Amino acid sequence: MSGSPAVVMRLVASAYTVAEKAGAIVRKVLHTGELGIVEKTGANDLQTLADRLAQQSICASLSRRFPKVTIIGEEDLPAEEIGEDLIENSQSEEILQMSCPAEYSEVKEEELVVWVDPLDGTKEYTEGLLDNVTVLIGIAYQGKAIAGVINQPFYNYQSGAGAQLGRTMWGVTTLGAFGFQLQEVAGDRRIVTTTRSHSNKVVIDCVDAMEPHEVVRVGGAGNKIIQLVEGRASAYVFASPGCKKWDTCAPEAILTAVGGTLTDMHGKPYSYHASVKHMNSAGVLATLRNHEYYLSRVPQTVAQALKSD
Ligand code: AMP
Ligand code: MG
Ligand code: MG
Repeated sequence: MSGSPAVVMRLVASAYTVAEKAGAIVRKVLHTGELGIVEKTGANDLQTLADRLAQQSICASLSRRFPKVTIIGEEDLPAEEIGEDLIENSQSEEILQMSCPAEYSEVKEEELVVWVDPLDGTKEYTEGLLDNVTVLIGIAYQGKAIAGVINQPFYNYQSGAGAQLGRTMWGVTTLGAFGFQLQEVAGDRRIVTTTRSHSNKVVIDCVDAMEPHEVVRVGGAGNKIIQLVEGRASAYVFASPGCKKWDTCAPEAILTAVGGTLTDMHGKPYSYHASVKHMNSAGVLATLRNHEYYLSRVPQTVAQALKSD
């Protein structure tokens, strides 16, 4: 093997530090108190100064080091010169030291697509539900989510002095996922996690059809995958369009890296090629195990309401 790590591992190593920088930006904007909220498609679809600065930081930092990678960010921002203070140049040495799975060792920079959600859970961010917030950087190859980084800027924010604020989780499919302790829901309890701010009748009907013992309504796609991998929920059920590819790419990669599954409500995987439609029109069903059970419970009426891509 030659000395230089494979591009996939170098990209993940950069995405790790870049996501940490973005997380620090998200905290800083909150502390200044001036959120600069803009409504995108409506009151439930917001953008703040933190979303804008974090995306500028992530996209500029990654594209500088990986100019041939296609990078797709959530926010529609004017092309402008990015201040040097927003650029992150370092890489995670720990990730650079790890060996790349054989199937990705020859992947070229131009074959990779990066999906960026600079701040997932913006609604919750503006409402002070801070641990719902994540920064998501997903990496796709041949249309599949193969690696991802999730930074949770306010992890531990209620734990008091001395607790480390914020954390970063990352994973590569077939290598594994790191930065958290994998745990499953105890016993056979069906704990369903779903949206708290984008609900409707179809969403509720579908959650009910799973016959859950408990429903956990929290914000953010990244945060809901964290609920799954840390044993606080057994399925993420969202029978509605609304989530986009940047919401699911990084979470799907980390979930898959620990043996889980993410599909639409028909059981069909999403594709993350650069040219795909951004909207996950047929909803999101994600589980650590027992995916088939949850799929089998999706009512006909719900399935008919959601068309696959
Ligand atoms: P939620 O579970 O409601 O926090 O949504 C997860 C992700 O999908 C967030 O990035 C939301 O902004 C996005 N999302 C879900 N539903 C909608 C919607 N109806 N309109 C806009 N964004 C949505
Ligand atoms: Mg999002
Ligand atoms: Mg976002």
